[in-house]
Amino acid sequence: MFFSNQAFAQKKAVFIILDGIPADVLEKTPTPNLDKIAKVGGYTRAYTGGEVGGYSETPTISAVGYNSLLTGTWANKHNVWGNDIKAPNYSYWSIFRFLRKSSPSAKLGIYSTWEDNRTKLIGEGLAETGFFKMDFSFDGFEVDTLTYPHDSDKKYIQKIDNLVSYEAAYQLKTIAPDLSWVYLEYTDDMGHRFGDSPELAEAVALADEQVGRIYESIRYREEKFGEEWLILITTDHGRKAEDGKDHGGQSDREREIWMVTNAKELNPYFENFIPAMVDILPTIARFLEIDLPENALKEIDGVSLIGDISLVNANTEIENEQIKLTWVPIQKSGKVTISYASTDNFGETGNVDNYSKIAEIDLSAAEFRFPIAELPPGKLKFWIQGERNGIGVWLIR
Ligand SMILES: [Zn+2]
Repeated sequence: MFFSNQAFAQKKAVFIILDGIPADVLEKTPTPNLDKIAKVGGYTRAYTGGEVGGYSETPTISAVGYNSLLTGTWANKHNVWGNDIKAPNYSYWSIFRFLRKSSPSAKLGIYSTWEDNRTKLIGEGLAETGFFKMDFSFDGFEVDTLTYPHDSDKKYIQKIDNLVSYEAAYQLKTIAPDLSWVYLEYTDDMGHRFGDSPELAEAVALADEQVGRIYESIRYREEKFGEEWLILITTDHGRKAEDGKDHGGQSDREREIWMVTNAKELNPYFENFIPAMVDILPTIARFLEIDLPENALKEIDGVSLIGDISLVNANTEIENEQIKLTWVPIQKSGKVTISYASTDNFGETGNVDNYSKIAEIDLSAAEFRFPIAELPPGKLKFWIQGERNGIGVWLIR
């Protein structure tokens, strides 16, 4: 057969955040729907929170984590430090803006138990986002206290999650936006109130059902329309080790998250390393073949979890008057080009930084040293470009 259906399959993606479910709780709780999806693709533990004690350290707080997913960057860049979302740096675009720019006719959807995700993080209708618009949104029920009176048991959130999941399933099945975000909250409420408890496990089981509903729509689209779908489910943070109630700090259990996906081209980074929240944006971008502008690409802190990649886990430090860059090679051979910028025009104004090349060496060397005296003072942004991917790392002095 010359033309297979597959070759022309339209690609669509949906990511789901189930709020505040520690990986150990998820693994102990029966979740038949998540298991079904993981069987097609995979399951991994992952992390959020940036580098502990490093320039990218990021609070393990909900909105902060959502924005790390949305922008593929840590809080030192996207500038959301709490749930009040005071002053996001919209120079770091959301995945939705990247897709809109790359394919203007793409349809974008959000189905969410928290309205701020759309109005503040995505920044719909704001001058700073160029009056960006989603195509389909279904949210804001938590501020409609007439229809959903707030009760201390948070049953209203459970109801809203359910409503949101039904509408998401319906719209994905019938309208099928090219990229959608589904956000469900109830698990976090049970975590805060009861900690590690049967109540949290019950909420996880409910969330699993809600995901199952959405996955069914995707399976329907795949079978009926021959579309190819990526679904990726994650959580935004873990919880404190003692009782599983709070979060926000940098302990292992608070930083630990997880990912479930149906992706078939998972790479060694997904399989053999601990991926990060910020890896989701480059993964979706690769799947949907989003053309990321070069300057924005250099700022993204994550690496794709699907397809071929050259290197992961880059780092900088100063040792013996030298800048030492390190990385972990994934490809067996090939070169890396190393360049740096001494300005941060991108972070300050969204403008271009000019990078100067300082070396081209073997990828397998896994490190590069250069006399620090020969580089400009102040903050330096390094870019390590391999054949299949590049990684940006900063040196803060
Ligand atoms: Zn949360």
